Amino acid sequence: VVNEARLLEGFLSLVRIDSPSGEEDAVAGELRARIEALGGRTSVDERGNLYAAFEGEGEPLLFSGHMDTVEPGRSITPLVEGDLIRTDGSTILGGDDKGGLAAILEGYEAARESGNTRAIELLFTRGEELGLDGAKAADFSRLRAREAVVFDGEGGPSKVIVEAPFILAIDGTVVGRSAHAGVEPEKGISALRLAMDLLAGFPQGRLDHETTANVGRLEAGLVRNSVPERCTFLAEVRSRSEARLNAEWRQLEGLVDAARRENPEARFEIDFHLATHGYKMTADESVVALVCAALRRTGVEPELAAMGGATDANVFAGHGIRGAVVGFGGENFHTKAETVRISQLVAAARLCEDLARA
Ligand SMILES: [Zn+2]
Repeated sequence: VVNEARLLEGFLSLVRIDSPSGEEDAVAGELRARIEALGGRTSVDERGNLYAAFEGEGEPLLFSGHMDTVEPGRSITPLVEGDLIRTDGSTILGGDDKGGLAAILEGYEAARESGNTRAIELLFTRGEELGLDGAKAADFSRLRAREAVVFDGEGGPSKVIVEAPFILAIDGTVVGRSAHAGVEPEKGISALRLAMDLLAGFPQGRLDHETTANVGRLEAGLVRNSVPERCTFLAEVRSRSEARLNAEWRQLEGLVDAARRENPEARFEIDFHLATHGYKMTADESVVALVCAALRRTGVEPELAAMGGATDANVFAGHGIRGAVVGFGGENFHTKAETVRISQLVAAARLCEDLARA
């Protein structure tokens, strides 16, 4: 049975260990010690991601969360007020994702205390907030599990994220020719104008119910009176439909090809790459059914949802691991108003306990 006091103390002590992205050593050491005390075999890869395996029955199931937090996330002072945990207002809380990590450890410990467990693996990543960096560098040969539950959602555990987008990243540089803008503009080729013409053809905003596009950054030129020689930009398209993403991708490459043909003296160095895998699961998918059944057994009615952002589960999808994302009662992630609701943190630990039982 989940021990609420132990869960709360476990969570608060993790929150008090600073772990902004890139500085996860201390919290990783603490987590490793706790996992080993529970009988887990641990290892760390070159990137610093923490892996663990617990012996048990059947095919292993992977529980995952990330160890890093965003800023301002140093010297965090968590305050408990009734059912709510918040900060003193000067920092984030770091419930994202220490609520997930605490729920996993308490859930597993509770399952172990009450009898036989199934085989469980853990992957606690670094640098998730930098763009899933830790997961992208993870050594998946250390994991046997093909199904995962990622405790990194906003809200309570009843919301099961079963769809997340594929993300196409576009990094562009246009190179023209500089010239004095007042004396000899004819000799120049404005990289800025060429980039603007190209980007004017890029779709932006919400394209359909599962697809969005954005140009997030454009940078060019040095001074007012010079024709800009270089222009760089960052754009993206994200879609929960891989087919739609690929159609947009082909269309955008077509626009770039046309710009090259029309401006043979300029250079268009435009890199398209799939930055993040996506996934789309239904209620029949085995990991979704597993999580929903466990939620119902703990008295929580599951609701399946889609998200527009990415989590480590997106990276897992690219490695053939099907992952459902659930919450642990956290709200207002990445802000000083971040909170965690204790009753939902307990519910997340109960979910974990149920999943870990043999
Ligand atoms: Zn997170």
